[in-house]
Amino acid sequence: MDEVVKSLKKIINESNKIVAFTGAGFSAESGISTFRGAGGLWSKYDPNIYANINVFLQDSTYYWNFFKDERYPVIKKAKPNPGHYALVKLEKSGKLYRVITQNIDGLHQEAGQTGVIELHGSTRKINCLSCGKVYSMDEAYKLLEKELPPKCSCGGNLKPGTILFGEPLPQDAVDMAKIASKNCDLFIVLGSSLVVFPAASMPRIAKKNGAKLVIINIDPTPFDEIADIVINGSTSKILSEVI
Ligand code: NAD
Ligand code: ZN
Repeated sequence: MDEVVKSLKKIINESNKIVAFTGAGFSAESGISTFRGAGGLWSKYDPNIYANINVFLQDSTYYWNFFKDERYPVIKKAKPNPGHYALVKLEKSGKLYRVITQNIDGLHQEAGQTGVIELHGSTRKINCLSCGKVYSMDEAYKLLEKELPPKCSCGGNLKPGTILFGEPLPQDAVDMAKIASKNCDLFIVLGSSLVVFPAASMPRIAKKNGAKLVIINIDPTPFDEIADIVINGSTSKILSEVI
């Protein structure tokens, strides 16, 4: 086993309150494209049009077309990968304190993870802006096939449960994530470019409060220099080797 992977195993063994912080790279091997980097989704769909709250409120058909052609078919087909199952195993061992995710795909929960903090909401819940009724992805897709933009049975407009650009993050999720980051003894970043704030402030909070910081990501991140261990590689391969 690689030396750096051995030291990761040692750090995990010595820790009892681990936070796993996952980003788009963690789900890449489940077949969901990341936003940034080569082949990233944003090179195909401009986020300032397809995922911006102000555009959405003026004309939601951009978003719903993106949902219909890209988001729904991709997430519907995606299955948790070995990285998701490794974290479930870590939770069962009693060492994993929290999973904080920037992902909106719901794959942690599908793998059987509990206590997931979703910073950017979930694509699996679609809400009516008038009556508050919640629809599943499948139900929203069916409504979408009938009319664009889709409407609730009350006639109200629907909005995805994901946080669009220009929207604030859900305060309860941010608060829970900050508390978890403050109280953990090991913070592991998994497949995140760590450039989206306030999500990316969490590793610093953890480090400041005495936790060890591990970053596993294919590309370098702005936080590599304060990390105890940096591994540039696939999260699913490394986690299944270590856990
Ligand atoms: P990002 O797209 O900015 O960065 C992903 C990082 O993952 C890159 O630095 C890349 O090097 C790395 N990576 C790619 N494949 C990897 C692998 N197999 N193993 C390890 N690393 C890998 O992602 P981010 O930092 O999560 O950006 C945040 C935004 O992306 C959030 O708004 C989030 O909601 C959104 N997003 C979510 C999904 C999803 O739910 N699956 C998919 C795309 C984007
Ligand atoms: Zn309604």
